[in-house]
Amino acid sequence: MTTPIKFDKVSIVIPVYNEQESLPELMKRIVAVCKHLDSDYEILLVDDGSTDTSTTLLTIAAETPGSHFIAVLLNRNYGQHSAIMAGFSHVTGDLVITLDADLQNPPEEIPRLIQVAAQGYDVVGTVRQNRQDSCFRRWASRVINAFIQRTTGKEMGDYGCMLRAYRRHIIDTMLHCQERSTFIPILANTFARNTIEIPVMHEERAFGHSKYSLIKLINLMYDLVTCLTTTPLRILSVIGSVIALLGFAFSLLLITLRLCLGSHWAAEGVFMLFAVLFIFIGAQFIGMGLLGEYISRIYNDVRARPRYFVERVISQNLVSSEQETQ
Ligand code: UDP
Ligand code: MG
Repeated sequence: MTTPIKFDKVSIVIPVYNEQESLPELMKRIVAVCKHLDSDYEILLVDDGSTDTSTTLLTIAAETPGSHFIAVLLNRNYGQHSAIMAGFSHVTGDLVITLDADLQNPPEEIPRLIQVAAQGYDVVGTVRQNRQDSCFRRWASRVINAFIQRTTGKEMGDYGCMLRAYRRHIIDTMLHCQERSTFIPILANTFARNTIEIPVMHEERAFGHSKYSLIKLINLMYDLVTCLTTTPLRILSVIGSVIALLGFAFSLLLITLRLCLGSHWAAEGVFMLFAVLFIFIGAQFIGMGLLGEYISRIYNDVRARPRYFVERVISQNLVSSEQETQ
């Protein structure tokens, strides 16, 4: 076994969107954990355009003398993954850990992640042991995780859990990626040489509710698929060809039946034809929708609008009111 890597500084990145109830406990627990780390540390709280008092709480925490908190304030809501990217662009540590602000990922797991990363892994993923989410979310995740595993060939059981550790070079490489819609765990895995996944605990959301509506979840799923692969486009043309062939075979069958059974048969078959037509039209619309998802992402990348806009960074090392975009 190789000697464990010694990290000089650990950076913890946490996206925050309207989490005023969980923040005080999160900060308390995370500081209690970090105090016992061997390395120096910083905790970046990225405010993703919260409309409650979260922004004030973060600002106060970062302004307290001697504080290890850094507040990165975005001017509006850009989504969890963009917020994390904004945090990444301000980290100074050589190991970066992400987790959610809602306390579903216990901060007490952080030392274990650092220990595993020290064995030389580029990315340390986690599997939620006793996942405390709705049945629908658990079922949807299972399908998506299986799909990702098949596509990437990487043995990762749980891409949805954001309690993860990344070595600095992986973060730097991700920051070089210009795509606007991204799914961080997958992006990181495409650059990692060796990854590992460890089991962690998962807690129920203590305050508030999930910040993901159904529409946001669907959008995230499309981000995930398009970030991962263009295979669906290929599958689309395969499905199209199969449907066209079936349609041709079916029309041959209809002509034969009509010739053998007489014209009255055709009238009775009208509704059957409708049903078949609707299946084909449906398939076409699904295909067009999928194409549209890719095209809209290409369009966004071509426009090259910033992924986020950092309004202000509050830190003890750098008290600034910088404005920057990425
Ligand atoms: N979040 C964010 N921006 C968003 C939605 C969520 O920064 O637009 C943050 C949120 O504050 C939390 C994390 O992302 O820290 C995960 O969100 P949530 O717990 O709502 O997701 P779920 O656990 O339901 O997947
Ligand atoms: Mg959550």
